[in-house]
Amino acid sequence: MDARSLEESIRKDIENAANDQALEEARIKYLGRRGLVTSLLKNIKDAPPAERPKLGATSNRLKKLAESLIEEKLTVLRAAQPASRFYTPPHDATLPAHDGLTGHRHVLSKVFGEIKDIFVGMGYTLASGPQVELEYYNFQALNFPDEHPSRDEQDTFYITDDMLLRTHTSPVQVRYMEEHKPPLKIIAAGRVFRNESIDPSHAAEFHQVEGLYVDTDVALADLKKDVEIFIQQLFGSKTQVRFRPSFFPFTEPSAEVDMTCFVCRGSGCSVCGKTGWIEIMGSGMVHPNVFRAVGYDPDIYSGFAFGMGVDRVAMIKYGIDDIRLFLGNDLRFLSQF
Ligand SMILES: [Zn+2]
Repeated sequence: MDARSLEESIRKDIENAANDQALEEARIKYLGRRGLVTSLLKNIKDAPPAERPKLGATSNRLKKLAESLIEEKLTVLRAAQPASRFYTPPHDATLPAHDGLTGHRHVLSKVFGEIKDIFVGMGYTLASGPQVELEYYNFQALNFPDEHPSRDEQDTFYITDDMLLRTHTSPVQVRYMEEHKPPLKIIAAGRVFRNESIDPSHAAEFHQVEGLYVDTDVALADLKKDVEIFIQQLFGSKTQVRFRPSFFPFTEPSAEVDMTCFVCRGSGCSVCGKTGWIEIMGSGMVHPNVFRAVGYDPDIYSGFAFGMGVDRVAMIKYGIDDIRLFLGNDLRFLSQF
């Protein structure tokens, strides 16, 4: 084939290519490893020396021509059929429409909503306070001694010497009592922060609900009654509750509250570690020093306080074994609730 007919053939084949595949075939025909233009270039060395320069120039011109024509044609094909480059799934008009993804409340908001509804039904009102807190409200006013281990920077995220991320929701109690006179009955909820090593049962940020009741003649029996009503409403009326002596700086006496395991009903299983009991909250009678800090006379007023982890309640209620899932933003987890 002489150079002229080869050029005509190149122009015609590329011009007539109707789609990407035909164009690719034309490219292989001329520019492929054994293509016509490629062979021409390869054969130069076999030509008589006098003809080589002309043959070389012609071959290179044809090569560049084919390349630029293919490039142009490719642009034309893409412009004409933009969608043809993408996979188009088979279309079936009889299939039902997708429901789409609908958002819903986060499992922690849901559990907090249940907890809140129970306490509001018992006459508690909602109170709130800042997450960035003064050390005074987080520790000092709550009767934490200066050398208390919780103040250690191992546990607390300090922002400045006297400002920190609150380690519990209890400072809300102090702020509320500073501005209100008894009787008062509040719950406070929110995010709290501790400098913990993260593992399935410890997170550096988690959530608490805290209750406080102050009046004249509030007794330990009142605490037991409210806590029992709450737990039985949340976990079922057959749930039993027990109080174990404990220590918190801001209550005296203090008690950990256990409830019978909702899985085995007290007979012992893997959820409760074979004990039949699950620890659910801390509680106690408000320490006189806390009352003194907010200007209440501890000889006139008494009160109780309790607090629990919302994350922990949700884990118990739904059998979740890793606290990190709550803030992990994994829809496979979140969409289950
Ligand atoms: Zn159990």
